[in-house]
Amino acid sequence: MHDKTTCPICKVTKARPILYSRRLPTGYVFRVSCCVDCGYAFQDSITPEQYHLMNTTYLQYSSAMATQEIETTDLYKQAGLQMEFIDRLRPIPNGGRVLDIGCGEGVLLAYCKEIGIIADGVEPSLSHTAIAETRTDGAVYPMFFEDPRLEIDGYQLITLRHVLEHVMDIHGFLDKVRQSLSTDGVVYIELPDSLCPSVFIAPYFVPEHISYFTAASLKRLLSQHGFTVIRMETFRDNPQGTMNYPVIRVLAKKHETKPIFLMGGPIEYIDLVDTFDKYFTDRRRLLDDLDKKLRSNNFDRGFWVFGAGYHSEILFAEMPEWLGDVVGFIDNDVSKHGKTFLGKLVCPPSVGNEIRVDRILLSSIHEKEILNGLMNLDWTSDTVILSIY
Ligand SMILES: [Zn+2]
Repeated sequence: MHDKTTCPICKVTKARPILYSRRLPTGYVFRVSCCVDCGYAFQDSITPEQYHLMNTTYLQYSSAMATQEIETTDLYKQAGLQMEFIDRLRPIPNGGRVLDIGCGEGVLLAYCKEIGIIADGVEPSLSHTAIAETRTDGAVYPMFFEDPRLEIDGYQLITLRHVLEHVMDIHGFLDKVRQSLSTDGVVYIELPDSLCPSVFIAPYFVPEHISYFTAASLKRLLSQHGFTVIRMETFRDNPQGTMNYPVIRVLAKKHETKPIFLMGGPIEYIDLVDTFDKYFTDRRRLLDDLDKKLRSNNFDRGFWVFGAGYHSEILFAEMPEWLGDVVGFIDNDVSKHGKTFLGKLVCPPSVGNEIRVDRILLSSIHEKEILNGLMNLDWTSDTVILSIY
């Protein structure tokens, strides 16, 4: 467990709480503190038991797009952009080995296969692992990277795409990444930019995100673990078109000299506090606007919510008054059908043809896929589809 007053990176200075969450329906309350000296922000109240519970949810991740042609997905395009970025700076040598940690359904592995690179993956969800295995000639390890049973090394490239911010023991994790790389190996990291959290996507301040990095704090952490940044970029205005929210991406190489510790400063701390304040004001405004649209004309039949998952759990913690008007939840995941979620029945998409409503609220991180799916259904033409994005 993170000490409540000690920064996990600096070890010595005091970190101050800068954010408290609302209680989620599961009873989880979380707190984010920020180190005044180095600007690293992190959940300081999470217990090992809560972390373990969250890891259990990763095991249950199931497919949102297994049946789709993978090459047409935004995730595949993203993987292509990520690999092109790496290739421009540090081309993978012939026969070079790649490891994608948190490989999900193997989208990056599939891209690598397409360009003639054999890539391995590590993924805790068995459902994801089974799909990922079909998309690579490499190995897919069905476990967490931190698992001591996993002993692998010699990789020229290790990719951590939206993984590091979920990890509790960032030091042990990065040490293992370093050990798993060849001497000339590089690590690619992509994660949300905490100086620019987007209010338009699945809530950013969530229990799953243990660390809230800025480019500066990530760079400091990497130097501490013997990595030199080759290139670091932040995308605040989403120029790539396929990124869901502003991200930092960095390519770093192992260096042989002893780790360097770079200090941050109070300015970064103040920036983060301002950013977090603004985030909550903007998000509240967004939800109030959505509330008006939801409750405008013809609201007597209530509304369906598409997405019976984590996104909805957080949404309804913020907008509990909506629940009374929810007819039920719709989800593509067949394993959820017939069960209850937040006290309402979860149904397949076809239910929309049987029980008509005037509004459907999309509440998922897979909104684009859902929207495409909805277009193929025979919903009434006057149904208004509202998106939380
Ligand atoms: Zn610190």
